[in-house]
Amino acid sequence: MKEPQVIIIGGGISGLINGILLSRAGLKVLLLEKNSYPFHRVCGEYISNEVKPFLENQHLFPGEIGPSDIRELEITSPSGKRLKKALDLGGFGISRYRFDEFLANEARKSGVEILENTRVKEVKCEGIKFIVSDDSSVFLSDLVIGSQGKRSTLDKQLDREFLKKKSPYVGVKYHLRGVFSNDVISLHNFEGGYCGINKIEDEKVNLCYLIHRDKVRKAGGIHESEVRFLYENPHLKQVFESAEFLFEKPLIVNEVSFSTKGLTKDKMIFSGDAAGTIAPFSGNGMAMAIRSAKYLSESIIKYWKGKPDHEKIVHRYTNLWQAEFANRISRGRKIQKLFGDDLVSELTVKTGQVLPFLVDPLLRMTHGRPFR
Ligand SMILES: Cc1cc2nc3c(=O)[nH]c(=O)nc-3n(C[C@H](O)[C@H](O)[C@H](O)COP(=O)(O)OP(=O)(O)OC[C@H]3O[C@@H](n4cnc5c(N)ncnc54)[C@H](O)[C@@H]3O)c2cc1C
Repeated sequence: MKEPQVIIIGGGISGLINGILLSRAGLKVLLLEKNSYPFHRVCGEYISNEVKPFLENQHLFPGEIGPSDIRELEITSPSGKRLKKALDLGGFGISRYRFDEFLANEARKSGVEILENTRVKEVKCEGIKFIVSDDSSVFLSDLVIGSQGKRSTLDKQLDREFLKKKSPYVGVKYHLRGVFSNDVISLHNFEGGYCGINKIEDEKVNLCYLIHRDKVRKAGGIHESEVRFLYENPHLKQVFESAEFLFEKPLIVNEVSFSTKGLTKDKMIFSGDAAGTIAPFSGNGMAMAIRSAKYLSESIIKYWKGKPDHEKIVHRYTNLWQAEFANRISRGRKIQKLFGDDLVSELTVKTGQVLPFLVDPLLRMTHGRPFR
């Protein structure tokens, strides 16, 4: 490719959607991804249906992969009390392994050049040009989108404020096979965390949990903390003891934090988790990543007249982002507290059993309105 107009750093959901929309609008886009597709990531793999009309409209809904159709939520407390609720909007289950690969193929078809195994080390803005480098190459562009996810070595180079706040959460994920309902997402609480389970494609099941790192330390490791804390919930014990685990070892991610992080730094513009991360209980990080990519790429397209009008792009994107996400992220943090603590989650499930209508507004708060 001749010098790209836009460089996107990170080819997760937000980077790929930005790439597709910008490329379809005629911009020359280079996307740099440190891994190579397909690859697994720590994620619950439940996507809120708020994004379905948009994905269908853009011919990006991955129907051919056969995602599960999820309609019901089951919540259990650490002692095993159970609450079941129909989801007002619902969602679909699909592995990131397949979904990201599907989007990467769609991006290539749209004209995006993707360089895999390319870990960006440095981004500088000099005058009107960006200089982006990995270990061996230097790339120039008019605009850079940072979609490097929740935490990247690149954030250190950029000296981003959010890195100063440490987070105590560890994320763990497995794929399983076993007897599970097709249309239910389960949220099992345990002392120090909670675990989501839902079907994805090919009769496989995603099991993904967040746990406080002190619990892992106290137990002496991931497996030990599963036996000591997760097994206390009888539903989880039954799953761990009866399902077939498809990975040799779990996928683990540390320092999972939930906050807004700032939408720009040194004229680079952030999208998806790189801009702000929502607590996974809400099952909504991917929907936010898709929506923020739509807002950003539409702002870029609107204010690209031969070159980007940076100020106008950032102004429009910031307004849209703040209106849609700022409250959602802080609400997500509050709701997270209801499920990360064993006593509080016992009480939440008990209250939901007796007064189920109280749970509906809580569920509505965790997602946005469907969009096209
Ligand atoms: C435990 C857990 C469970 C979750 N469960 C759910 C769920 O069920 N539903 C949901 O909607 N959301 C869930 N989320 C959130 C969801 O995973 C994220 O919101 C979503 O992945 C954000 O997409 P993204 O494109 O912004 O970032 P990512 O998907 O993280 O993509 C970032 C990409 O950037 C690449 N990258 C990073 N640094 C560099 C670099 N220097 N150079 C080049 N490439 C780089 C990475 O390899 C990666 O491919 C969960 C998160 C966690 C931690």
